[in-house]
Amino acid sequence: MRPDPIQRIDTAFFWEACERGEFVAQKCEACDVLWHPPRPICPTCHSVEKTTQTLSGKGKLLSWVRQVTPGAFGFPESPIAALFELEEGIRMVSSLEGVAVEDIVIGMDVMVDFAKTSGGKAVPIFRAAEAG
Ligand SMILES: [Zn+2]
Repeated sequence: MRPDPIQRIDTAFFWEACERGEFVAQKCEACDVLWHPPRPICPTCHSVEKTTQTLSGKGKLLSWVRQVTPGAFGFPESPIAALFELEEGIRMVSSLEGVAVEDIVIGMDVMVDFAKTSGGKAVPIFRAAEAG
């Protein structure tokens, strides 16, 4: 029931990578800065020369919220919307899944996973990282 991502010319590479189970971000070829969400120019130096870099998928939880009313479209239970800081230093808003609300700890280690959508696409979500 999870809705498909909205794909645009500048974001297609990201969603196509998710479908392959790859987690990527754009990287500036002029100043080496990584960024997310996808955009056509570097947010730091405005260069249009960019590439993609595979990310580790590791990160930490910075903040979270669960919307109670109204319920979220396409989900049997409102997802936990969360802000993560990735190992590479960029931040991403996504869902935290597989963790009971009472077990959520700010700063907890998380790992990316991919959830299928109703149209057969995939979106990144995060789960608690396994110890060790
Ligand atoms: Zn740049």
